Amino acid sequence: MRILLMGPPGAGKGTQAERISGYCKIPHIATGDIFREAIRSGTDLGRQAKSYLDAGELVPDAVTIGIVRERVQALDCKAGFLLDGFPRTIPQAEALERLLDELSMKLDLVLNIKVAPAVLVERLTGRRICRQCGTSYHLVFNPPKQDGICDRCGGELYQRSDDTPETVSDRMRVYTNKTAPLLKFYRQRGLLRDVDGEPGIDAVWDAILGLLGSLDR
Ligand code: ADP
Ligand code: AMP
Repeated sequence: MRILLMGPPGAGKGTQAERISGYCKIPHIATGDIFREAIRSGTDLGRQAKSYLDAGELVPDAVTIGIVRERVQALDCKAGFLLDGFPRTIPQAEALERLLDELSMKLDLVLNIKVAPAVLVERLTGRRICRQCGTSYHLVFNPPKQDGICDRCGGELYQRSDDTPETVSDRMRVYTNKTAPLLKFYRQRGLLRDVDGEPGIDAVWDAILGLLGSLDR
């Protein structure tokens, strides 16, 4: 199964990706996570990416495409993968199409999680992430059992530096201008399925399960 997860920042991609990845037994590849990890460990990639993440802008296509090209050819992607946060521009989508052609692979599904802008701001500013395992929480909608501590691994929760109201509005603008056009790109290819991302986490997951089930048939 090869799946792309689309939707604006805060739609719930990472949250649902965890579940999809476990259910379909495919690796969850999030370009945002790859960049944050590179920044944390101080690699060359991290140094290149940092200013873009801080500003809520996109890392240049050439850099991002290079990373995904390498990652989807890793052994664990033989049976499939779930891409979260990639592609985010038309050139990225075209590069992915070329790469999959080269590898004689095809996409099965592009899931678009739809959430209204006002809800997104509340989700992003209340988001907290585990420093150790990356699990995402929300102060109101999905709080950890113990304040500031990850339920899963006991790690410390932190707020992403780009989840401030100012950077959030820059990221929304980037989404509208550069990423939203991809919906048409994948709709034209018959791959896009919309999911209402506004109900609670479990209800959204049920809807996704329904879609995944309809693919099996
Ligand atoms: P994305 O990966 O699309 O940026 P996340 O999965 O990190 O989004 O979710 C953003 C925030 O919203 C997180 O704090 C998460 O806990 C919360 N969240 C995710 N899905 C829902 C939902 N269906 N209802 C309420 N809050 C949600
Ligand atoms: P995310 O974790 O998906 O919200 O992404 C966080 C940040 O990482 C974005 O605001 C961009 O700066 C960068 N990023 C993630 N994925 C991409 C991508 N496909 N193309 C360019 N930049 C990206």
